[in-house]
Amino acid sequence: MSTARILTVDDVNPDLLPRRRLAIIGYGSQGAAHARLLHKAGADVRVGLREGSSSEAAVRKAGIPVATVPEAVKEADLVAVLIPDTAQAKVYQEEIAPNLEAGNALLFAHGFNVHFNEIQPAADVDVIMVAPKSPGPMLYREASQGNGVPALIAVHQDATGKARSLALAYAHGLGSTRAGVLETTFAEETETDLFGEQAVLCGGLSALIQAGFETLVEAGYQPEVAYFECLHEMKLIVDLAYQGGLTGMRERVSDTAEWGDYVSGPRVVGAASRKAMKEILEEIRSGAFARRWIDECEGDASEFNRMRAEGRDQPLEEVGARLRARMAWLQDAEETS
Ligand code: NAD
Ligand code: MG
Repeated sequence: MSTARILTVDDVNPDLLPRRRLAIIGYGSQGAAHARLLHKAGADVRVGLREGSSSEAAVRKAGIPVATVPEAVKEADLVAVLIPDTAQAKVYQEEIAPNLEAGNALLFAHGFNVHFNEIQPAADVDVIMVAPKSPGPMLYREASQGNGVPALIAVHQDATGKARSLALAYAHGLGSTRAGVLETTFAEETETDLFGEQAVLCGGLSALIQAGFETLVEAGYQPEVAYFECLHEMKLIVDLAYQGGLTGMRERVSDTAEWGDYVSGPRVVGAASRKAMKEILEEIRSGAFARRWIDECEGDASEFNRMRAEGRDQPLEEVGARLRARMAWLQDAEETS
């Protein structure tokens, strides 16, 4: 196992970002955090929005200039593309590419479109990635409090010889050199991100919860009790693992739970699941997953909509909604992400 070097403030060229005119395209989770942090740090920032965007008031309230996407790109020499991945290729072709100039930099927070050739920038622009390892609101909160969240940086294309330094300077502007910046590639970030969300975080987790809940309910246990055991308590365990790794989690659960972890966990995620994980990874690496998803989005998204509806219409979801309605702390919880 080789380990990566963690980049910190000592590796940053502080002159690079102040000389750039930045366009942040999109003011969603990442866009709002990047625009506000870089603006507060004194960078020359404008936000590019669609005509009639509902975000316009929020950008103005933050004291940041607003422009249309083509205007913002024309004015800037670093363009951060922070709209949803599924919207990027069209906006890039129609509004960004025609307004880029040689020597400009294009920045992404996720490698999907560049890695799978949905966006193919001209050879004379830098193409870089800065991917904070947190949702935008948490990125903003941590950086504003003098901390920072870790980030990945990568260079897809270095037209100016400054691409890597620029990515690092931008990550520094987001506060991420305080938590550590790791260097990756567009391929590694994209493939591991897709694998993680499919096999472990979203797909794996949802299927695990669902299967555990259904096993208990089919055996005659009360759905409410099954919900608490298989979904509600997941947060407690995830919080422990987040804080102290699997060892820290196992130190804090009972010895009985720890013993059951060792003898039963590998039976649930055994050879069949590992084989499925390898197949999922292969479909990601070959581009088969990306092709299927892009076709789905470019078509009528009927399969996506069908699965979304099926996912919502489950006993687990009905029981959970009823129980959560009585958990006062969930009703007035601030956005924690
Ligand atoms: P988002 O969905 O929160 O926000 C997107 C913004 O773009 C919204 O303000 C929306 O109104 C605007 N928008 C949508 N379509 C548009 C269009 N056609 N033209 C102009 N603006 C449009 O997106 P996000 O989650 O911030 O994701 C942005 C990028 O950051 C993606 O590449 C994503 O993979 C990456 N990323 C996200 C996270 C995260 O936690 N959200 C973390 C790391 C990286
Ligand atoms: Mg420009």
